[in-house]
Amino acid sequence: MAQAKPNTIQKLKSWFLAGDKDLAMLRAQLTVLSGQLPMMYGILLISSWALAITHMSIAPDWLTLYPLVIATVIVVFRSIDWLRLDPASLSKKQAISRVQAVIRLSVIISVAFTTWSLMLFEYGDVLDKAHVSFYMAVTVISCIFCLGSVPQAALIVSIVVNGTFVGFFLFSDTVFFRAAAVNVTLVCTGMLFVMRQSYRHFCHMVEEEVRSKQLIEVNKRLANRDSLTDLANRRAFYNALERQCMEACQSRNSIAVGAIDLDGFKPINDMYGHMVGDLLLKQVGLRLQTLASQFPGTDFFRVGGDEFSFIVSEPCSDGDSHLIGEQICAVMQRPFDIDNSEVAISATVGIAHFDPDMDSFQDVIEKADFALYQGKRNERGTCTIFSEYLHCQQRRTTQIQHALKSEGLSDEITPVFQPIVDIVHDRIIAVEALARWNSVSLGNVMPSEFIPVAETSGCVADITKIVVEKSLAAARDWPSALQLSVNLSAKDVSDEDLLMWIYQRIVRSDIAPQRINLEVTETAFGTDSSKVEEHLRLFRHLGCGVSLDDFGVGHSSLSRLHHLPLTKIKIDKSFVSNLNREARNFTIVKSLLNLARDIELDCIVEGVETEQELKLLRELQVNMVQGFYYSKPLSQEHLIELLSQNGDLSAGSLRQSA
Ligand code: C2E
Ligand code: MG
Ligand code: MG
Repeated sequence: MAQAKPNTIQKLKSWFLAGDKDLAMLRAQLTVLSGQLPMMYGILLISSWALAITHMSIAPDWLTLYPLVIATVIVVFRSIDWLRLDPASLSKKQAISRVQAVIRLSVIISVAFTTWSLMLFEYGDVLDKAHVSFYMAVTVISCIFCLGSVPQAALIVSIVVNGTFVGFFLFSDTVFFRAAAVNVTLVCTGMLFVMRQSYRHFCHMVEEEVRSKQLIEVNKRLANRDSLTDLANRRAFYNALERQCMEACQSRNSIAVGAIDLDGFKPINDMYGHMVGDLLLKQVGLRLQTLASQFPGTDFFRVGGDEFSFIVSEPCSDGDSHLIGEQICAVMQRPFDIDNSEVAISATVGIAHFDPDMDSFQDVIEKADFALYQGKRNERGTCTIFSEYLHCQQRRTTQIQHALKSEGLSDEITPVFQPIVDIVHDRIIAVEALARWNSVSLGNVMPSEFIPVAETSGCVADITKIVVEKSLAAARDWPSALQLSVNLSAKDVSDEDLLMWIYQRIVRSDIAPQRINLEVTETAFGTDSSKVEEHLRLFRHLGCGVSLDDFGVGHSSLSRLHHLPLTKIKIDKSFVSNLNREARNFTIVKSLLNLARDIELDCIVEGVETEQELKLLRELQVNMVQGFYYSKPLSQEHLIELLSQNGDLSAGSLRQSA
């Protein structure tokens, strides 16, 4: 039912009782009053005492001394009360009743002081009477000014005091008093008009202030929110973490910080477009918000494209935070319904605990990221807690990062060469260049350790250049039938500058491109695979071969294989260990070989260590192998020595020297 519109009387009543004001306005009025009312009381009291003292000898004490003593006590208490008032802490109800009390008191005080003044007027000569009229006329002006923020009270004071003043003195026999009455009427009318204007201005200012505060709030919210998922954003994450780490330092409590990365988001985004990607991220955000309600004290943030973070601000153990991490992995494993199609991704989580002894809150972020990185490398879709073991690994990673920046890196890195053998014709057909790093500060470091660090620190291209340069130089001394394989990291194949550099080096070298083979892993085709394919096609056109390294351990769909510009696949060494007829690995190798044959790719089996393994591989009609059974990776000197003893590249000599 529609509410009836208030009539003029109701509006006036509401205005008079301050019921039409909102809380911000009431608080603003009380803030001004809390400064001005004690001043008004002070002026009123001092002027009244001045009047009372001049009348003490001519008027009785009950009219001079006693009322002033009582008024002084009341006024002191009221002033203290106003000085201690904190308007910001008042509710709307409290604020209204405070303003209404001011309006009521303005009636009482103005009636009381006017009556008192007029009673004193009866005493003394014309000068004393003039003092009373002066007191009434001037004091009211200051009271009206001090009550300016509550116009109802100012109006009451003006009507009571001036109305009485004018009514009383306009009919006086003395011209002076009649003239004063006219004067006071004019001054007060003008003053009330000015007061009305300045009150409107005051209201406008308060409204503006409220509006700008609201705007600031909205901007602050927008600046700290991610508009897509409605989760708090990266900026909010850093602010919240800094604040909570400071609190944790004071309370000596531990808080947990988690880094979440979505596995398989990028291919979905690339394949189905950004609209689908956005819908998926929205749903991820919703699932995280639901989790936040299940784990009190846990806040989630979106800190990047498909990266999320969380802070568990309540003190929690490794076990508690692991539980949260596992829950995150579990909810992300459930398929997502995007436009009636099922989309599957997973989330890998890394968690670290903030320790009050850490240097800064950045430390805990780095640790959570490190745990996440380890999780991504070892087992995606799981939660890893930053442990003492990871702490040692992190220290080692930092050492490697520093050492990789050393000036003499190109002298410290040398390639070694491992033969690849054609077991049908018993010949060495190629060698794979494998980087060896003899660091001045760290000693020998294996590529399985430093290549991943170089990839994350963005300097793997430098290593690739060194290996390519030195391998091409080495190949000049080999028989022209011997091919060279070099490894490219996943980062390398999307680095256009590096690929151009390699391309030109191959073109300018004395080695025929047909002798050169690039080894790439499945992860290289992870993100922008069409670009990678395009780059690799360039090398294929030049005549180089491209092998898919470590085949079988990745997650790429087998159906994608024949779209790729490949010439060979290298079956990962992990399938060769424990190779016997009954074993699972035997079946896997057999299927991988059949697949390679179906799509007409040559196949090399890596990691052959024993005669038994070689025998089984022969039964499976494998043509090419690489492994310690024939030879470990050899230095250039060893390789040359071997080749010079063995002019026709026969593999037999490898076994003799092994
Ligand atoms: P990969 O390209 O698959 O190289 C084969 C690895 O298996 C080499 O390890 C080799 O020494 C080892 N291996 C060969 N035969 C056997 C065997 O019979 N048994 C066992 N247990 N291992 C065998 P390495 O040299 O430690 O290299 C490890 C990985 O590091 C390489 O795997 C490759 O992914 C990477 N890597 C090495 N050098 C480079 C490089 O110059 N650039 C890039 N991007 N990656 C490199
Ligand atoms: Mg390789
Ligand atoms: Mg391999």
